[in-house]
Amino acid sequence: MTTFVDRSVVGLDVGGTFLKGACLDGGGRVLARLHEPIDRASSGALLDQLTRAVRQLETQGCPVVQAVGVGLPAIVEARTGRVRRSPNLSILDGLAIGQELSQKTGRPAFAENDANAAAQGEAWLGAGRGAHVVFYVTLGTGVGGALVIEGRVYEGATGYAGEIGHVQIDPDGRPCGCGSWGCVETVAGSGGWVARADEGRAKRPSSLRGADLNPEVIVTAAQAGDQVALEVVDGSAHALGIGIAGALNLLNPDRVVIGGGVSAAGAFLLDRIVAEVKLRAFPEVFAAAEFRLAELGGDAGAIGAGRVAMLSLGGS
Ligand SMILES: [Zn+2]
Repeated sequence: MTTFVDRSVVGLDVGGTFLKGACLDGGGRVLARLHEPIDRASSGALLDQLTRAVRQLETQGCPVVQAVGVGLPAIVEARTGRVRRSPNLSILDGLAIGQELSQKTGRPAFAENDANAAAQGEAWLGAGRGAHVVFYVTLGTGVGGALVIEGRVYEGATGYAGEIGHVQIDPDGRPCGCGSWGCVETVAGSGGWVARADEGRAKRPSSLRGADLNPEVIVTAAQAGDQVALEVVDGSAHALGIGIAGALNLLNPDRVVIGGGVSAAGAFLLDRIVAEVKLRAFPEVFAAAEFRLAELGGDAGAIGAGRVAMLSLGGS
């Protein structure tokens, strides 16, 4: 078995705006970090940036880099390291990023979807530690999800597994970016929060009038007792509760981890989601699942991408 005592892996997390990097030893200790704006000019420019990032981390006190993992805002075929589709970063479409990065860095390189990478990070060192089956839900602009079984991401046949944001919960709901309608994401994605808050404040008195709307502002208003804001939060919890209850009955996880930027709302949101799940899931399935907020924050993606590289090399 490979050991990582004097060696390390690099995890890179390509977001919509920023590139985050972490160099990790085999025990998950972060030895060096990197954070910079993404170069979105072309796929070549991005590959060059990722290659530079590996070198930079290496010179910042990182021992021999054994492998590189990269998390991407894209559907990724993890087996081949090829991007199938990236709705928000189209320069990645069709890119064989694993192979390209491997050639450029001279090390084995592996690619993974960003939600899958964050889930892998949380399951290893964060809120999913010690669980057998972790269902991870990420709340941000979109609603993502991933399933980690005994420490490894379940990819499905072609990398799409875990997409809870695109489970339909309202057959008469709003159109969704995926081509369907009434998906969890249409209500619980940040666009859904903003649309409902905007409708609500136009009809009724609300402290949200005149505010620049986003989930954080809406949660703050709800915590202060604003009824319009409270209904938006409850609506999102309701949508997520329906989706997660379905996932629980299907998968019977022992841990549910809620992450992503919107999860900063903390227990105020989590408690509402859990209450909605409890109404719907089998009582025994609900009782078996422990709900936790993500613990690794913005580091989850880079740490998880590093873990993906480690596991792909055959580490444990
Ligand atoms: Zn959808």
